[in-house]
Amino acid sequence: MPDPAYDPLTIAVIGAGVGGLAAACFLAESGHRVTLIEAFAEPKPLGSGLLLQPIGLAALSLLGLDRPVIAQGSRISNLYGRAVGGKLALLNVRYDALAPNLFGIGTTRAALFETLLQAAQDYGVQIETDAPVLTLDGLDLNGPGVTVITRRQRFGPFDLVIDASGTNSRLRPQFGDILRDRPYPFGALWGLVDLTGTDFAADRLDQRYARARHMIGVLPVGPRADGTGLRGAFFWSLPTQDFTPWRETPLTVWRDAVRRLWPETAPLLAQITDHDQLARAAYSDVMLARPDNGRLLFIGDAAHCTSPQLGQGANLALLDALVLSRVLAEGSHTLKQALIRYRKTRHRHQRFYQWASRALTPFFQSDSRLLPWLRYPLCALPCWFPLTQWIGAQVLAGVKTGIFSRIDPAGWAPAYGLSAPGQARASGFRDVGVALSFASILVDGGDVGGGNSSSADGGDGGGGGD
Ligand SMILES: Cc1cc2nc3c(=O)[nH]c(=O)nc-3n(C[C@H](O)[C@H](O)[C@H](O)COP(=O)(O)OP(=O)(O)OC[C@H]3O[C@@H](n4cnc5c(N)ncnc54)[C@H](O)[C@@H]3O)c2cc1C
Repeated sequence: MPDPAYDPLTIAVIGAGVGGLAAACFLAESGHRVTLIEAFAEPKPLGSGLLLQPIGLAALSLLGLDRPVIAQGSRISNLYGRAVGGKLALLNVRYDALAPNLFGIGTTRAALFETLLQAAQDYGVQIETDAPVLTLDGLDLNGPGVTVITRRQRFGPFDLVIDASGTNSRLRPQFGDILRDRPYPFGALWGLVDLTGTDFAADRLDQRYARARHMIGVLPVGPRADGTGLRGAFFWSLPTQDFTPWRETPLTVWRDAVRRLWPETAPLLAQITDHDQLARAAYSDVMLARPDNGRLLFIGDAAHCTSPQLGQGANLALLDALVLSRVLAEGSHTLKQALIRYRKTRHRHQRFYQWASRALTPFFQSDSRLLPWLRYPLCALPCWFPLTQWIGAQVLAGVKTGIFSRIDPAGWAPAYGLSAPGQARASGFRDVGVALSFASILVDGGDVGGGNSSSADGGDGGGGGD
């Protein structure tokens, strides 16, 4: 059983979602033997559409998958939202406030999933379906390897198991060092609609807020399957306890209520004729004290589920997958050291977005009467000033790792660099995992825990906080 992380490892990835598929691709590309174990009889995407941020596209670009995803999706330049009946924008963030080359991509989950699945197959990943994982045996790093146990079969032994099974991971309660696992009181209904011929802009995520109790959103997600027209993801947020009453109420009642709040959605609502066209999404605030336990590593929502308020979950999962493959590729570490290095490298980015999502969500999804008013000074006002626009664009783009720090992909995915093309400074960035730079108003080109000043010293400390 190889122990040094640089030997090709035998790895099981649990869950064929965004994080699991990306991890399988990155790891197989690095030469590891990868088995992907998925609960569904056939791997399939869950939900309707999502927004990929520049940081997620940068990660995909290293697999050569950004272009196909961009080609099938909608280029998003602006996130805009205002209160129902209000004129003032409560949210108005543009990617070009950060760098003119940056944009988000609205995509259907199906398009992203198909692209990643095809790549995993091309990389020779062994895919096991209809295999809901129940538990694991043999996590000890000094033992002979981990066995993955499903209802009907056992797989393994594996050198390493990656749990990418999402919010409702069965392994997290058994093996995770859980700091927090709380369901949010609000969730969402979401589905695909046709935006062709409507007034919705093709490059804008548009939202309306009815106090903080309801949020309606429309995200363009690319052309129809035949390449014509424009599709969109439609979101309606509501308390999770209202899911069942919504289902039991005639759709016309709900459609009329939404139409009164945002009349322009009428042509979209007319397309929703069956409750089953909208999928329910409930989410939790999940935080682990550490993402690894022996030969097991949690990534994606299994490790750090957030509310989708900032649209970052899939992007965080993509970065997890990329960084994992890079720390395993660093030649001088044992598996244990590589996992410690992963933990330290990813900690600040994950924690920043968990903190930001938790802080922001009640302003947009809660029963509070005060918080909707506080959105004016806290959210609307910053949209007016270049400095706060710039900071807001960094948060949105998925690059923040702390109040004054960020990841700049310039060194490893130049097309997604934060500086304008031609202005990017030659930097000492060597690796995605270490390319953390302080905001340029402070220090440019900082290198945190990177390169040969390795923090993967075999120590057992937690990740460095902000
Ligand atoms: C309404 C909503 C909107 C969102 N919008 C955005 C957005 O705009 N941008 C963004 O970046 N993120 C968004 N997110 C978050 C994003 O969807 C998640 O963060 C992302 O999908 C997490 O990926 P994952 O691979 O960790 O888990 P998942 O995508 O949930 O995949 C988990 C996989 O594991 C499988 N699985 C589960 N249990 C088992 C088991 N026991 N054995 C084997 N397989 C199992 C599942 O079938 C599934 O295939 C949104 C989420 C919601 C709910």
